[in-house]
Amino acid sequence: MSDRSGSTNPDALREALRRAAREALAGGAELVLGWGPGPDPATLAPLFAASAEECAALDFGPGAVRNLAGYLRGLAGRKVAVCVKGCDSRSVVQLLSEGLLRREELILIGLPCAGVLGRDGLPADGPAQPERDAPEGWPSVPDALLDARCLRCRFPNPVLADVTIGPERTPREPEGGPHADLDAFLAQPVMERFRHWERELGRCLRCYACRNACPLCVCRDHCLAETRRPGWLSQSSSVREKLLFQVIHAVHTAGRCTECGECQRACPVGIPLLTMKRVLAREAEALFGHVAGTDPAQVPPLLTFRAEEPTIPDHGTGEGDR
Ligand code: SF4
Ligand code: SF4
Repeated sequence: MSDRSGSTNPDALREALRRAAREALAGGAELVLGWGPGPDPATLAPLFAASAEECAALDFGPGAVRNLAGYLRGLAGRKVAVCVKGCDSRSVVQLLSEGLLRREELILIGLPCAGVLGRDGLPADGPAQPERDAPEGWPSVPDALLDARCLRCRFPNPVLADVTIGPERTPREPEGGPHADLDAFLAQPVMERFRHWERELGRCLRCYACRNACPLCVCRDHCLAETRRPGWLSQSSSVREKLLFQVIHAVHTAGRCTECGECQRACPVGIPLLTMKRVLAREAEALFGHVAGTDPAQVPPLLTFRAEEPTIPDHGTGEGDR
């Protein structure tokens, strides 16, 4: 089903969103996961609506930062509707492609997105709240206030949705390409980069907020950071243990990570974790042509294998051999 709202007036879009949510409940969903009023006018907090009355508080805009796909595994087995931005929809698609969610249990309400607020939110001396009365589309804020990942977003429109509310957005094409900052980082000598991570991860608290926020980190109670059999990690707060934990998380999400940024956003000490994840996501795309979370029918590359991988020199044959 694809039912794009005819009007692009913000109030009409809000009403279309709330109507879609009520229809989802009437159609058998137990809950609608969306965003509603937050602690301040700029912030939208996750809202679980279970009745038509509760749907009246649903809203969308640059304050809708949280990726709601992170709640879906905990609701498996129940039919739910979930509001998804473009990046959030990739998390859902990735979980579907791994058989961790069931499509028939989901109603996806897609919301084309102009970007969400960065970690600092709105400046104290800036606009009091996003442009709620913009003439068309969902409210937005200037680029300077956006999260950095939104400035290079290739998927502002949901890649999978049952209903889409709002005008389609144009993907970003940042100067120098979406990976210019990664190229600059990787151009540094390897020891420079190692020292960078020693410095950054030296601040890690081992609180595991990054792991808990990740929609794709699904081992939960069996996480090797906590299990003692096998004892991969100790309780030591040495940089080595912290680095090893992050490397393991990065490898577990390699070829699966959709670069949603929830890990980095959740980190209370602001460690730039997304850099590590983006490097591996780029490698997966270069090696396997795989962009995580874009095709529910595609098996992630590290969850399968071919007898011959033409793009991996050691094992390939033909054109990819070097
Ligand atoms: S590793 Fe980070 S960026 Fe990647 S899917 Fe998990 S939370 Fe999102
Ligand atoms: S959220 Fe930050 S401080 Fe907590 S474990 Fe992850 S990297 Fe360390």
